[in-house]
Amino acid sequence: MILMADHLLTGDGATHRADAALRLDEKGRIAWIGSRREAAERWPQEEKKDYGEATLLPGLFDMHVHFGYYYSQPDLAEFDDFMIAYYALAQAKASLSLGITTIRDLSSPHGLLKRLRQAGEKGYVTVPRIIHADAGICMTGGHGHQDGIEEADGPWAVRAAIRRQCRDGADWVKLLTSNRADIPEFTQEELDAAVDECHRRGYKTAVHAGTQPSIQMCIDAGFDTIEHGTFMTVEQGRQMAEKGIAWVPTITAYTYLYEQTKKLIEEGGNTDNPIAARAIRDQAFFEPAYKAYRDNFKAIYDTGVTVLAGSDMVLYGAPPLPIHQELGYMVEYGITPLEAVRTATVNAAAVLGIGEETGCLKEGLAGDILAVKGDVSQNIRALDDVLEVFLGGRSVHCAGEAPR
Ligand SMILES: [Zn+2]
Repeated sequence: MILMADHLLTGDGATHRADAALRLDEKGRIAWIGSRREAAERWPQEEKKDYGEATLLPGLFDMHVHFGYYYSQPDLAEFDDFMIAYYALAQAKASLSLGITTIRDLSSPHGLLKRLRQAGEKGYVTVPRIIHADAGICMTGGHGHQDGIEEADGPWAVRAAIRRQCRDGADWVKLLTSNRADIPEFTQEELDAAVDECHRRGYKTAVHAGTQPSIQMCIDAGFDTIEHGTFMTVEQGRQMAEKGIAWVPTITAYTYLYEQTKKLIEEGGNTDNPIAARAIRDQAFFEPAYKAYRDNFKAIYDTGVTVLAGSDMVLYGAPPLPIHQELGYMVEYGITPLEAVRTATVNAAAVLGIGEETGCLKEGLAGDILAVKGDVSQNIRALDDVLEVFLGGRSVHCAGEAPR
């Protein structure tokens, strides 16, 4: 099978090929990349699909999702374990239809993502590649404790929580250590113990830290990814670049919360959605948060810190997994479309340690491929116009066809 289009982005942040053909082998791997003419000459008999004025690029990664966060649904009482599993499956389907072929879930109900991945392996359902951090860990009463996050206090209890979650199948470990205020939740001792426990056993660890001094404490502890980093300074970006800590800004989530809470307040502030009610109380946080991303993103990006695209959208009624919007903000705030695509492809695969398997269009890698209408190198929002999505060389979504 040969896929062809006017444009191809490898995902490395620099390579844009005009007039491209990509050959998939029987195992669903990328066997060859060249031009339409070369493809026609070398494989005249082989099936070819030409998308025309379109872009081929690697399937995207969403590095911050919560497939099992049903907490803002209006009919919460209906959400028993069965419904939660179907909810997570719907998220998985949405991700594939948007061209997201790999996700990192950073906390969902205990065991959910492990089973979703297993169900995919058994062939019961079609899901993206899943890397997950099981339930996540916060201090007693800390950020997220209402949402099923495991609470632990003290270095040994934190280590024990990590051991339990790893025993139960977590691929990554997620801690949460800041909420909306400048008050760190975990102590430095607890953060250091968490990173030590993960790294000595070969696990990578992500941390939710949006404010000071939590961000600095997490840089000092040496986490692998800092989630949000909302009020991060340029100097801290430099430190992260030096220490190899990646940044998942989640611009869209905070911008959406800012815009939505502003609207709700203007309308009188009445909502029966408990998550939205909480967000309204936090409006004083979301406005400077949105501005911090807008004003600082480019300068922090320029420090060389590895930036990763993550959507972290869990609000009822919000657009699902808005990773295209996330890349859109990055471009709006000053980087190129090619650089933005890299945050959701090559960078993400490298941080997850699967860069030899997926995340780039190059020979030998799995056929995780997204075809979209238009030229992504000129217009990042061409990503919204998904034509077809391949996972491991198999078509898992095609525009205009019934969902699979
Ligand atoms: Zn999150």
